[in-house]
Amino acid sequence: MRLIFVGPPGAGKGTQASRLSAERGITQVSTGDALRQAVKAGTKMGIKAKAFMDAGQLVPDEVVIGIVREKLGSDACRDGFILDGFPRNTGQAEALGAILQDFSAPVDRVVAFTVDDEALVARLSGRRTCPSCHAMFHIAYAAPKQGGVCDRCGGALVQRDDDHEDVIRKRLAVYAAETRPLLEYYEDRGLLTQVPAEGSVDDVYSALLKAVAG
Ligand code: ADP
Ligand code: AMP
Repeated sequence: MRLIFVGPPGAGKGTQASRLSAERGITQVSTGDALRQAVKAGTKMGIKAKAFMDAGQLVPDEVVIGIVREKLGSDACRDGFILDGFPRNTGQAEALGAILQDFSAPVDRVVAFTVDDEALVARLSGRRTCPSCHAMFHIAYAAPKQGGVCDRCGGALVQRDDDHEDVIRKRLAVYAAETRPLLEYYEDRGLLTQVPAEGSVDDVYSALLKAVAG
């Protein structure tokens, strides 16, 4: 199955993608995770990307398109993928279309997760992640068993640099201006299914399974 997950920051794309990936064995491709790895490794690309990420802006298209082209061409994606956080503007969507045409691998469905802005701010400001194994928590909605410690690997949880309220609001504005137009773009191509994502993680997952079943 070849899927694209679209939605504002905090909508639950990563949470749902990692569950679907684990249960169905479909490779999750997160441009945000790839960029954070490059930042952590101190590569030239990471150093360039960090300034955009910390400001809540999109990293330049050529950087993320390069990442996606490489990942989608790998063996891990031969039988399918979940694109989590890409594309984020119409230029990226056009580039993705060309890449997938090269690979003769059309997208099956684009799932758009919808959540109200204030709920997004609450989700993002409480998000904690494990830099070692990438597990995701929330201080109230998905709290780790022991505060600040990853349930899965015992690593120390961190708050992302861009999960502070001023940057969160900037990211929501960038989503509205640059990414939301993709809903119409994919609707016009008959690929879009909207999934209301304000319920519990389990409820959203059930709705997701229905969305990708048809
Ligand atoms: P995205 O990948 O869309 O930015 P995440 O999957 O990282 O979003 O989720 C953002 C935060 O919200 C995380 O802390 C996660 O634990 C929490 N979260 C995800 N889905 C839900 C949900 N359905 N209800 C409450 N909190 C959620
Ligand atoms: P995410 O982990 O998806 O919330 O992304 C975190 C940050 O990485 C975003 O705010 C952007 O700065 C950058 N980023 C991730 N994916 C993309 C993309 N497709 N295009 C441009 N920037 C991206």
